Amino acid sequence: MKDKREELVEKLLNQGYIKTGKVKKAMLHVPREEFMPPEIRRYAYLDRPLPIGRGQTISAPHMVAIIAEQLDLDEGMKILEIGTGLGYNAAVVSEIIGGSGHVYTVERIPSLAEKARENLEKTGYNHKITVISGDGTLGYPEKAPFDRIYGTASSPKIPEPLKKQLRIGGKLIIPLGSANYFQELVSVQRISDDEFKSEDLGGVAFVPMIGEHGWPED
Ligand code: SAM
Repeated sequence: MKDKREELVEKLLNQGYIKTGKVKKAMLHVPREEFMPPEIRRYAYLDRPLPIGRGQTISAPHMVAIIAEQLDLDEGMKILEIGTGLGYNAAVVSEIIGGSGHVYTVERIPSLAEKARENLEKTGYNHKITVISGDGTLGYPEKAPFDRIYGTASSPKIPEPLKKQLRIGGKLIIPLGSANYFQELVSVQRISDDEFKSEDLGGVAFVPMIGEHGWPED
């Protein structure tokens, strides 16, 4: 599996998704197969999103690379992720911010949150990543403000609580747009208490962020 991981990282570098040494090192280190159900592990190093149950997916590696690069991460940062899935993206981010940083990640489907906790324990990330079961559109006020916030599910608009919980100078990355797989990845920087500067990073396809400040449940 390690050879296949090296090949995939090389491909993502050549395609320009991985740009920095820190993202390369993290993606070489984190075993994606350990974050997948056994029946699909053999596909772990294809650059594709894959089904993880309950209609959800593990994000494609190139998407994890794009988010990690755009977040412009540094050691010691405090991060909030909305949409844990099975924990892979959070592990890559944790690897970059190191032992002095912490990732808080919120997942709305309790069985996925539980499985993610198991995966993170098995791979040794459980002391640096806290999985919270609940509606991530509310953020996680207990640990705010965050240096970086990112969503791995798409919302019709930026959930207000996330803007409030972003540190001044901090960055938020989230897919915005329709619920049905056509969205723009948007990066927002908090300039002051009530000033935000946003930048469009291009088209993406994510599952919907369902919650009080996202899409309503069917
Ligand atoms: N970060 C994951 C990874 O490493 O592959 C991506 C998981 S998937 C693309 C998005 C996840 O967002 C799903 O597990 C879904 O249940 C979750 N989700 C959707 N709406 C949510 C919400 N309001 N709060 C928390 N999680 C949510």
